[in-house]
Amino acid sequence: MDRCPICDVAVRPENLLRHLNDIHPRHPDTPKLVERLKAEPGRIAARTPSRPLHISRLHVVIVVVVILLGIVTYYLVVSGSSPPPLPCVSGNGLAYHWHAQLTITAGGNGVTIPGGIGISLTCMEVLHTHNADGVIHIEPDTSAQARVYSIGDFFTIWGKPFGSPSRMTVNTTDVAPSSTVGLYNSEAIILEYASFPS
Ligand SMILES: [Zn+2]
Ligand SMILES: [Zn+2]
Repeated sequence: MDRCPICDVAVRPENLLRHLNDIHPRHPDTPKLVERLKAEPGRIAARTPSRPLHISRLHVVIVVVVILLGIVTYYLVVSGSSPPPLPCVSGNGLAYHWHAQLTITAGGNGVTIPGGIGISLTCMEVLHTHNADGVIHIEPDTSAQARVYSIGDFFTIWGKPFGSPSRMTVNTTDVAPSSTVGLYNSEAIILEYASFPS
C-alpha cells in the first residue's frame, strides 16, 4: 500500500492517481503529484477511459430508441388509419358545403354522435363532424366529389354498422329505414334503434 501524500490515508498504488483527482482536486499540490505519478508505470487507473465510453453508448441507445419510436408512431398514424373510405378534402367545401342534422336514439335515449368523425391527422374526409352536435358537414372540393352522399357513407366513416333502425324520419316525414338515404343541405334525419353499438 501507498500513502496519500496529502491526507496520508492508505491507498493501493494503482488507485492513488484517482484518489488525488477525486478527493483532492483543488489541493495546490495535486497537479504536480498527478504529473509525477502519471510518469510512473502502473499508476494509470484502468477505469478512467471507460467512463466517457459508457456515456456515449447511452447517448447512442437513446437516439436509436427515439428514432424507432418516431418510425413506429409514423406507421401507426399513417398506415393504422389506412386509406380513408371517402376522399380527403381541404375543409373549404369548394364544390359545396352542406350540413345535415343527424339525431339517433337507442331505446328512447339520445346517442351522442362524437365530434371529429372523419378527421385524422392526415385527412379530413368529405363527410365529417366537427362537434358532438350531430351536424354532419359535407364539403366536397371537386366536381368529381360533388355527388350526393348517403347516411350509409357517414356510418362507414364513423365505423358503425347502420344496422336495422326501427324508425327513420327525414324532415319529420317517416321513410323506410335505409342506409341509401341521401344527405342534403339543412336536412334533419332521425334514426330510432332498439339498441345501438357504443
Ligand atoms: Zn368541416
Ligand atoms: Zn361545415
